[in-house]
Amino acid sequence: EPKNIVLNVNGIEVIYNHVILVLKGVSLQVPEGGIVAILGGNGAGKTTTLRAISNLLEGERGEVTKGSIELRGERIENLTPADLVKRGVVQVMEGRHCFAHLTIEENLLAGAYTRSDKGEIAANLDKVYTYFSRLKTRRNSQAAYTSGGEQQMCAIGRAIMANPSMVLLDEPSMGLAPQIVEEVFNIVKDLNAKEGVTFLLAEQNTNMALKYADYGYIMESGRVVMDGAAADLANNEDVKEFYLGVG
Ligand code: ATP
Repeated sequence: EPKNIVLNVNGIEVIYNHVILVLKGVSLQVPEGGIVAILGGNGAGKTTTLRAISNLLEGERGEVTKGSIELRGERIENLTPADLVKRGVVQVMEGRHCFAHLTIEENLLAGAYTRSDKGEIAANLDKVYTYFSRLKTRRNSQAAYTSGGEQQMCAIGRAIMANPSMVLLDEPSMGLAPQIVEEVFNIVKDLNAKEGVTFLLAEQNTNMALKYADYGYIMESGRVVMDGAAADLANNEDVKEFYLGVG
């Protein structure tokens, strides 16, 4: 039985600096409760696609010039990132972006900035610590002195503190050792299975992403060139030749 589509990206074009056409008509769908991966090499347009969805293009002098983006049937191209957080969509940017001078716990609490109920926030913090036991151990450490893996977990944990229904994850594996990447992806899978959080992630690490996602879109030069169930992509000869073993 087909699942409800939460996010529908339909033929979007994105232009940077009024001249550079970077996305040339990208379409993708994310079902409720899914883990969907956007795959492809450096510069393929993965980050730009996520930025277009969460409306973070403006700061980069980029704009969506064609197509539409719908969240549960509502057009969202003109909403601010804060509006999207209110609708349950939170982005974890590439490069982690924890506040270096704050402790892990202060970083997590910063993710609850849109909420006011202290009891709910405390409960949510406990929930984050049950998924990210490393963060609990490191709760009083300044983020700057924690490992890359802990900082990535902190960034995802902070997103979870906004109580999202969907998280956009940009390159969660970046700069991390393979066993730490596995640890991060296992937590993503757990949050998906037990909390019902939907994930759309951008990854260069095709191997790892296809192990955990249910569906994948492969991008090249601003276009989706192939899409399919993760297991089918992982067994596809072209994908094996061009993408697996990369990243
Ligand atoms: P990466 O893994 O390196 O982030 P990506 O697939 O996410 O790659 P994008 O970051 O979306 O790719 O970049 C797509 C193209 O857009 C690249 O050619 C890049 O140089 C260009 N680009 C990205 N950001 C900007 C910007 N702010 N201004 C101009 N061009 C940009």
